[in-house]
Amino acid sequence: MRSDTSYRAAVIGGGPAGLAAALLLGRLGVPTAAIFPATQPAGADRRTAALFAGSIQLLRNLGIWPQLAPLSERMLGIRLIDGQGGLLRAPETIFRAQEAGLEEFGFNVPNAALVAALTEAIVREPGVTVIPSSVAELITQDSGVIIRQQDGSQMLAALVVGADGRQSLSRHAAGITSRTWDYPQAAVVCAFGHGRPHRGISTEFHRPTGPLTTVPMPGRVSSLVWVESRDEAARLQALDGFAFREALETSLQGLLGSVEDIGPRATFPLSGLSADTLGQGRIALVGEAAHVMPPIGAQGLNLGLRDVAVLAGCVVEAQPGSEEAAVAAYARARAPDVASRIAAIDALNRSLLTELLPVHLLRGLGIYVLGAVPALRRFVVNEGLQPSLATPAAMLPDGLAEIARPSTPPMTIASGKT
Ligand SMILES: Cc1cc2nc3c(=O)[nH]c(=O)nc-3n(C[C@H](O)[C@H](O)[C@H](O)COP(=O)(O)OP(=O)(O)OC[C@H]3O[C@@H](n4cnc5c(N)ncnc54)[C@H](O)[C@@H]3O)c2cc1C
Repeated sequence: MRSDTSYRAAVIGGGPAGLAAALLLGRLGVPTAAIFPATQPAGADRRTAALFAGSIQLLRNLGIWPQLAPLSERMLGIRLIDGQGGLLRAPETIFRAQEAGLEEFGFNVPNAALVAALTEAIVREPGVTVIPSSVAELITQDSGVIIRQQDGSQMLAALVVGADGRQSLSRHAAGITSRTWDYPQAAVVCAFGHGRPHRGISTEFHRPTGPLTTVPMPGRVSSLVWVESRDEAARLQALDGFAFREALETSLQGLLGSVEDIGPRATFPLSGLSADTLGQGRIALVGEAAHVMPPIGAQGLNLGLRDVAVLAGCVVEAQPGSEEAAVAAYARARAPDVASRIAAIDALNRSLLTELLPVHLLRGLGIYVLGAVPALRRFVVNEGLQPSLATPAAMLPDGLAEIARPSTPPMTIASGKT
């Protein structure tokens, strides 16, 4: 275990956002430590992430896409079905990638495979030192941030990337306040086989208790994100396989034919979190350490990977010694994208939950207008996939070459416990 080394950057957290951040910084020549517990619950994450073009390009740039592509499925269209049962039922609307001039909207990638591929890559990456440990404390000093691990050993980093999830110790250590809230819903998640092909179309049934979404996986398989009231989600989670299959078939209204081979289920209570800023002093937050939103519209990890791409650009651009300025530039650059997405997903979820007729009317009319007006459809499709803000270089083809600079070796400092 190294306890006497200083790094330009230390990334705390071994989820997809933290691993991507460490790998990207290492590739860009920034001497980086990646600190996360060795005993991650490998394979236990049953979620998939629908990742849009910028996120996929980042994975290509990081060299891990060839490993993930066979396990992922192309998303060629998104179908919205108004399952509200209200007075005004909107007609079904399908957004096709072609209309946005794209080959596909993105790919549905299994989370466990993504984390495994990123972990293998950072272990091989010479620019990254993996430290299998939990961080117990962060102490900011003039010269950098002292990172004390659970076993008492410590290191110094000029800049800390807090990718340590919703309970983020980094966020607290930076003194960044946050707003949190709960929704009265939970999502039941699993993979399932079906008789009819999905043809690359993801389907969202918009229902009074929340959306039920199927997202294509390779073959005649889809991943399910079924949002219900918390009680109903607990009931669905507890059903035996036969009863769950029946309930799912009924809710899918025959869309994908007979349901078969249902994988293990997991339930996620829905909540939200918004950090008041994405960076303070020498500590920058990425992923769920900074923002948590309900799994509607596939925004969470796409947003987290945009954090990573923008942060890497700010760090590489900054001269050593001006890390605080890099963190401030990063926080400024990310604020509008993060705030607008949290507000949009919150509003969409709440509009589904409300029983007020005018909201139903507006939402029904919204889905109808989106279906009927081609220019509006194109706008919504493009904004949902990638905001009109500039695409960060790390998400562009050959983007890494554009921002990379030669690596400098880590400097050695005196060790000692504070
Ligand atoms: C049901 C569901 C469906 C979703 N679908 C999509 C989708 O289709 N598309 C999409 O873009 N997003 C989706 N999301 C969101 C996405 O899953 C999350 O944004 C993403 O997994 C968060 O990754 P993260 O790396 O930020 O956090 P996490 O995965 O929570 O990682 C946090 C890491 O920090 C580590 N850690 C914590 N504390 C410490 C410490 N003190 N020291 C060291 N390490 C520490 C933990 O061990 C962990 O490795 C979905 C979410 C849900 C719930």
